[in-house]
Amino acid sequence: MDKMQYYNNVLELMGNTPLVSLEKITKDLKGRYFAKVEAFNPGHSAKDRIALYLIDEAERTGKLKPGGTIVENTSGNTGFSLAMISAIRGYRCILAISDKSSQDKIDMLRAMGAEVHVCPASVPADDPRSYYKTAERLHNETPNSIYINQYFNEKNIDAHYYSTGREIWEQTAGKVTHVVVCSGTGGTISGIGRYLKEKNPNIKVLGVDAEGSAIKKYHETREFDPNELHSYQVEGLGKNLIPTATDFDIIDEFVKVNDKESALAARKITTETGIFCGYTSGSAFVATEKYAQKGTFDENSIVVILFPDHGSRYMSKIYNDEWMKKQGFL
Ligand code: PMP
Repeated sequence: MDKMQYYNNVLELMGNTPLVSLEKITKDLKGRYFAKVEAFNPGHSAKDRIALYLIDEAERTGKLKPGGTIVENTSGNTGFSLAMISAIRGYRCILAISDKSSQDKIDMLRAMGAEVHVCPASVPADDPRSYYKTAERLHNETPNSIYINQYFNEKNIDAHYYSTGREIWEQTAGKVTHVVVCSGTGGTISGIGRYLKEKNPNIKVLGVDAEGSAIKKYHETREFDPNELHSYQVEGLGKNLIPTATDFDIIDEFVKVNDKESALAARKITTETGIFCGYTSGSAFVATEKYAQKGTFDENSIVVILFPDHGSRYMSKIYNDEWMKKQGFL
């Protein structure tokens, strides 16, 4: 009792997120299922890991100097993590976000002190109005700024290789047989997959993609097919371009999920397990059920499903009955 116990700042609380049994909602499936609940990070999502890793790196290599500016395009979570670290370390943070992201997320970025530019989601990635091109332009216009560029920054994979992947290996005592992970930039699935397959090449790395995204088709054909694309509601899952932050060779398979089944699954997880999870946690769970239907798992399977973020980010979307009815989901 003679020593005070405290953290210097919330960044010291990053990582080592818990594995929580999903036994209650997976009784009908073969094998054992666990959620890795990334909402326990201080910024309430898996994106804390890449934000800290990439900022530390930029500081170490001298690219980011005191008083500098951090610029990024984001569906909200990476932006929140970057804004949090900027607040702690005294950087300016400028974010381009697509107008598809929930109002909750946009408000949260501003609450954390970021300068936010809202961009249309309905334009192609190479349109000057897109959030990619807007972030690029803001970076070029701002002296002493760095551009995180998470979709094309392969260090995004390393952040998860050194933390999330290792944690899953250690928390399951090396017993994990499958991981089910959503793919956006692909950093999470690629980093986890790379670490686990180095430890045990038999571990299966199962991806989750959105209906309307180009990722699954690219994984199967190595060709970008614009015919696959249409707009959809799930935020942070899938993509209308092919990110180089995805290591497609490490991923065994993808399944696609849609907006409605993802939303309903997230609501079910929350009310039945008490884990207040985000929209793509629902996507990952539905994908797991689809893999189970395909016969992917057996009695000996130990399956880790990554839950990327916290439900509070979706109060005006999937946790709002009016929104759900308007979409035709209820
Ligand atoms: N879910 C949510 C809510 C996200 O914000 C993201 C990040 N875009 C993902 C899943 C996918 O993670 P990653 O970018 O590492 O593939």
